[in-house]
This record gives sequence, structure tokens and C-alpha cells, in this order.
Amino acid sequence: GRGVIRVGLVGQGITASLTPPMHEAEAAALGLAYEYRIFDLLDLGVPAERVGRILEEARESGFAAMNITHPCKQLVFDIVESLDDDAARLGAVNLVVFADGRLVGYNTDWIGYRDGLVAGLAGASFERVVQIGCGGAGAATAYALLSHGTAHLVLTDADVDRAEELTERMRPHFPGQVVETVQPGRLEAAIRTATGVVHATPMGMLHHPGVAFDVGLLQPAAWVSDVVYRPLETALVREATRRGHAVLDGGLMAVGQACASLQIITGANPDRARMERHFRAL
Ligand code: NAD
Repeated sequence: GRGVIRVGLVGQGITASLTPPMHEAEAAALGLAYEYRIFDLLDLGVPAERVGRILEEARESGFAAMNITHPCKQLVFDIVESLDDDAARLGAVNLVVFADGRLVGYNTDWIGYRDGLVAGLAGASFERVVQIGCGGAGAATAYALLSHGTAHLVLTDADVDRAEELTERMRPHFPGQVVETVQPGRLEAAIRTATGVVHATPMGMLHHPGVAFDVGLLQPAAWVSDVVYRPLETALVREATRRGHAVLDGGLMAVGQACASLQIITGANPDRARMERHFRAL
């Protein structure tokens, strides 16, 4: 009805997403009339390229904003009429706000990831970080890692072009820091000398079993961060924890992006700790 803030999530295969309950529970706790709806491209039977049309329809029917997820984050980057500075630099959009009828793009994945680094890896060394996976999530983690002061960031992806594109995109914004691509064949050597490793591919999800690198190659003091959050305990998280490494699972990033999105959409001040407790109980 009138006065209800309506928000959606558009992406592929997202019917079981935890983002709607996260938003709705926190909005209710804040006393907001708020509805969060899923637009799954698979259910709608439309290709990702139609995301612009879906955003247009949402705007026309009075939605306040739309979160964007795989595989649309880079497509929407090209569609929006105006971009938040950080989203413009990192090259992906996961939130579109309809402001005076205009589509304004934001990226809250990087905020969520940065807040997760601060909360979950305090005291860790960011001298030499290796990141595996340079897609939508990887753009956000790379930007957060560099914003957080990573001195040397090594980017790698099974699709070397994606790693090179992200390297080229990041370099101009962090001139005092080193950003480089390594070929997948040189990953082992990079892992051996890393102070931390960030995993940003879908490996560890139900339909992508396995671990993307040999955890046994890590230095004892190296930390490990996984962006996968379904499940929270991936084979990587389990193996790195078993070997005694400091580990950051994908949960804080997931909570943090929802918290930052809710804040931008409503102007209210969500309680991140309360959102995290709720999320971990879902
Ligand atoms: P994506 O498809 O955009 O990017 C994945 C990248 O990984 C691709 O570039 C692909 O080439 C690369 N890749 C795949 N397997 C690889 C391997 N074995 N070695 C090296 N590179 C490999 O996907 P995405 O949107 O970036 O999502 C990746 C994961 O991040 C998913 O599990 C997603 O659920 C998760 N994610 C988590 C959060 C969070 O808040 N925690 C946010 C966004 C995405």
C-alpha cells in the first residue's frame, strides 16, 4: 500500500536468497513499512540482457530501489544514468536507487567486504594478498582490499582476461600500491608467499564443489577469506580453519552489503550486529 518502501532483487537462480529476510527483519525492527521482492530471471524466463527492462518496470511501478546480483552486476553498470564514485571506480553495480526517476548505481558489496575485513581480520597483514576470481564479487573485494591498504595485490582468474581487466581498472586508483595479474599456472608460487588469500569464485557452493587452491601451500601466519556464503562453511573455510589459519567466511560481506543497501535506500541507520545475528540464525 501507500507509504510502503518497495525494493527488489534481480538475478538468476535467486529464489532461495537470504537477502529478502535480512532486509525485511531489520526494516521491521527499525519501524519501517518495507517490502522486498525477488525477480528471478529464470522464473521470468528472460535473459540477463533484459535487466534494463525489469529495472524500468520496477521504477514505473513505484519501487524505491533494486539490488542486482549475478549475472547482472556489470550489465547494470552500463545501464544506470549516474554512478556513485566507488561503484564507478570498481566497475560493478549491486544497487540501483530510483532517485527522481533517475537510475543511480551503487556498489555495497565492497562496503560489506571492507567492513568484514575490519571486523573479522583485525591485526592481519595486508602486505601481499592473492585474490582468486575476478568477476562481480572479485571486483568488490579487490577494491575493498586496496582501499583497506593492501600493499601488493595479486589477481588471478581461470579467465585471464578478467584478471587483466580488473588489474587495469584498479591500478589508476591506487598508484602507491602494486596490483598485478598472475597466470593460473603461477598461482602456486603466489600462494606460497601470500600474507592472505581471498577466494572469490563460486567454488564451494553446492553445484561447484571443491577448493580453488592448495591450502597446504600457505604460510602458517597467512589468513584466508572466502566470499561464498551458501554454505558459510565451505571446504576451503573448513580446511583453512583445521590448519589453524585466521579465516573470514562470506557471512560478514553478505550482511554488510545488505546493511549498507538498506541504509542507502531508506536513510535509516540499520544495526549491523543485529542483522548478523539474524542472518546466522536463518
Ligand atoms: P562471477 O561469475 O561474476 O565471477 C566468478 C569468477 O571466477 C569468473 O571470472 C570465473 O572465471 C572465475 N573462476 C571460476 N572458477 C575458477 C577457478 N577454479 N579458478 C579461478 N577462477 C575461477 O561470480 P560472482 O558473482 O563474482 O560470484 C562468485 C561467488 O561469490 C559466488 O559464490 C557468490 O555467491 C559469491 N558472492 C558472495 C557475496 C557475499 O556477500 N558474501 C557477494 C557476491 C558474491
